[in-house]
Amino acid sequence: MSKADIYTIEQIAEIVEGKGLFVNKDALVTSLVIDSRTLSNAPQALFFAIKAQRDGHEFIGNAYQNGIRNFLVSTDVAQDQYPEANWIKVGDALLALQKLAIYHRAAHQLKVIGITGSNGKTVVKEWLYQLLATDFNIVRSPKSYNSQIGVPLSVWQINDSHNLGIFEAGISTVGEMSKLAAIIEPNIGILTNIREAHDEGFANKREKLIEKLRLFEGVETFIYSPEHVLPNITLPGKKKFTWSFNQPADLQIVDVLNKGTSSILKAKYAEKQVEVTIPFADAASIENVVICWVTLLAMGYTALEGTYRLSKLVKVGMRLQLINGVDHCSLIDDSYSADISSLSIALDFLNQQNQHPKRTLILSDLHETGKSANELYQEISLLLNQKKIDRLVGIGEQIGAHQHLFKIESSFYKDTEHFLANISEQNFHNETILVKGARKFGFEQVVKRLAQKVHDTVLEVNLNALTSNLQFYRSKLSPGVKTMAMVKAFSYGSGSFEIANLLQYHKVDYLAVAYVDEGIALRKAGISLPIMVMSPEPSAFDAMLRYQLEPEIYSLEVLQSFLHFLPRDVVAFPIHIKLDTGMHRLGFEHYHMAELTALLKNTQQLKVISIFTHLVATDDKQHDEFTKLQVTWYEQMYEALSNSLAYKPIRHVLNTSGISRWPQYHFNMVRLGIGLYGFDGALEAQKDKGKGDGLKTVAVLKTSITQIKHIYPGETVGYGRRGSLPNGGQIATVKIGYADGYSRAFGNGVGKMLVDGKLAPTVGAICMDMCMIDITGLNAEVGDEVIVFNEEQSIVALANEIKTIPYEILTNVSQRVKRVYYYE
Ligand SMILES: *Cc1c(COP(=O)(O)O)cnc(C)c1O
Repeated sequence: MSKADIYTIEQIAEIVEGKGLFVNKDALVTSLVIDSRTLSNAPQALFFAIKAQRDGHEFIGNAYQNGIRNFLVSTDVAQDQYPEANWIKVGDALLALQKLAIYHRAAHQLKVIGITGSNGKTVVKEWLYQLLATDFNIVRSPKSYNSQIGVPLSVWQINDSHNLGIFEAGISTVGEMSKLAAIIEPNIGILTNIREAHDEGFANKREKLIEKLRLFEGVETFIYSPEHVLPNITLPGKKKFTWSFNQPADLQIVDVLNKGTSSILKAKYAEKQVEVTIPFADAASIENVVICWVTLLAMGYTALEGTYRLSKLVKVGMRLQLINGVDHCSLIDDSYSADISSLSIALDFLNQQNQHPKRTLILSDLHETGKSANELYQEISLLLNQKKIDRLVGIGEQIGAHQHLFKIESSFYKDTEHFLANISEQNFHNETILVKGARKFGFEQVVKRLAQKVHDTVLEVNLNALTSNLQFYRSKLSPGVKTMAMVKAFSYGSGSFEIANLLQYHKVDYLAVAYVDEGIALRKAGISLPIMVMSPEPSAFDAMLRYQLEPEIYSLEVLQSFLHFLPRDVVAFPIHIKLDTGMHRLGFEHYHMAELTALLKNTQQLKVISIFTHLVATDDKQHDEFTKLQVTWYEQMYEALSNSLAYKPIRHVLNTSGISRWPQYHFNMVRLGIGLYGFDGALEAQKDKGKGDGLKTVAVLKTSITQIKHIYPGETVGYGRRGSLPNGGQIATVKIGYADGYSRAFGNGVGKMLVDGKLAPTVGAICMDMCMIDITGLNAEVGDEVIVFNEEQSIVALANEIKTIPYEILTNVSQRVKRVYYYE
């Protein structure tokens, strides 16, 4: 970084036109932080207290504790609590972040490519990086940082050594793009396409297109396809460069030959026939390749050079996967990209994992244009300290040559082969391991070696979607209303500590499990949130005490036996009182109140943390009167109880479907269950299809084809000869059966799975470990993926097929089906 890239806190105050209050006005700022938990170079970080779903001001204490000393705020803060801090006060912290980015961008004279569109932004950006990295020092958006916050943070990375920037911009409504345009200031603009994705914020396609085009108002060159623009809209750019699959364009694709895993694109360019073979065959990749191709041409590369580079493109992985490893390890597989900004993101993810005592990084040589190897490994060493990584396994000659720079436990191997041959000397055990390496090191082999054997049937859990669902419900709550996340039954089948850990990271207030065992497992995995246990069996009282698990007390018997059990020296042990207001399952009824209050009044040993009830039909209009009655009874019983206590316990009554329908009953806390996993019976659009309404699908259950057979008319399939194809056809045997949770009720065509995007009904009875599906006329081969449920074929659809509820579909997926967690 040169001098021009470093700012003092005082300069920043000037740039953002904020009011400064400094202990040290010359404090240097090199990194910008918006999340107090993202660890970075704390002493030189500036924390922006942005008001988004949570108010950033709530996290100032936390950030200060993590060593941050520079803060930009928009409301008054008790500054005397932070004696060493510098402050900048502004009207709007997000705007200030954007202003700073505009200034920083304007201070650098580099060529910038700006990308927007409905799909493909991130892939096109990553591919252009692959294609151009040999000729330019490139700075680009990390992952898909393309929002009002992500874009300023991306642009902030620019320094004097860069001569090309590639940034993506994503918007969700009118008015957002001009802000991003001022920050990115592209010279070359790429519109990937305009599709239905993320349509909610716009009146129509025209409005969306016009808004997106605002990114390109100042560009020299505009790259687009006539297929994606509309008539009577002025297009930006002095020069225009176009591609198309079906009409004349600068680069017109005339034929696409599918070769299985690769394809040949034939095109007309400058009156000549050109052709390229690319290692992809799916439509989305082909479109993205074409966009990159036309960009190379627009930048002056020859057709020959372009086609050579395109043939070498490699797939961009955009997920960080968390998988179970051997010997009680967890693995994060990030073995497809290897640059320092993606390393930093992956290290944050590693740092968030608390399930094992140790965090380990397996890292190959990296290559970063514009930096000497010495600078690079020094920077990486600093990162490893900041992100609290315990040990490093370095693979490659370069990283080995710089081993003296690393201050943590480390070992080095000259190549992947040597590492694999000697892997046993590392004794990997009970640790979280991030595997990150440049492609040529072939770290897939490392992952394969360290991963527990994964069966072909997996439940993939999208942690971004889960986070987004959590925020969806939080945004419906008034400030101060707490969230209790229901993680009973392995988080509705989606996992145990992996989910709890994520919820803890996002600061839910409480967790609830059904049984003591589940609570113990969470404690052992490092979960420190308070945990309520709904069925506290007396034989496990002792364990509850040891693991600080808080019982739900639902009867006088349980209360008495718990009091009887509690050692004398325990005071104010946290408990939760459950009231029965009409469910008639567990809970105190009104005639228990007198005895209950007497017992609670006479003891100092217990503290009633909360008093709650469960409503029986929050999602069902026809029972709304009963719901109101339940709450009235609840309130009466709450009053009676709390009047005899010297304090006010937390009140909560609502489950997922109550949150949107009964805002007047949020009280102090809500209990969020199935909504986290993307289903809410109260949201209209979800009733039959299970999508839309702002919730995202979290879990996808996949299996694969083991064998394909031809069936003739008259032949039968499976046990009891129940299945047949009257006209003959093809069936596929897939690796999922009722022991995996695919109910026998799905047999004989009742259930349907997705093969190559099309529905394939079951044939015959479901077996224990497999079943057969009709794939007549579909494009399928042995080994192909088969979707049991996902966003399209939702758990709601499956539930309807066998007349049950989504809850049962989710929780039925048996524990032998491996869970794979990922981040996008
Ligand atoms: C499971 C459960 C919930 C959550 O219900 P959802 O419908 O999944 O949101 C809430 N409260 C209690 C007492 C529960 O047992």
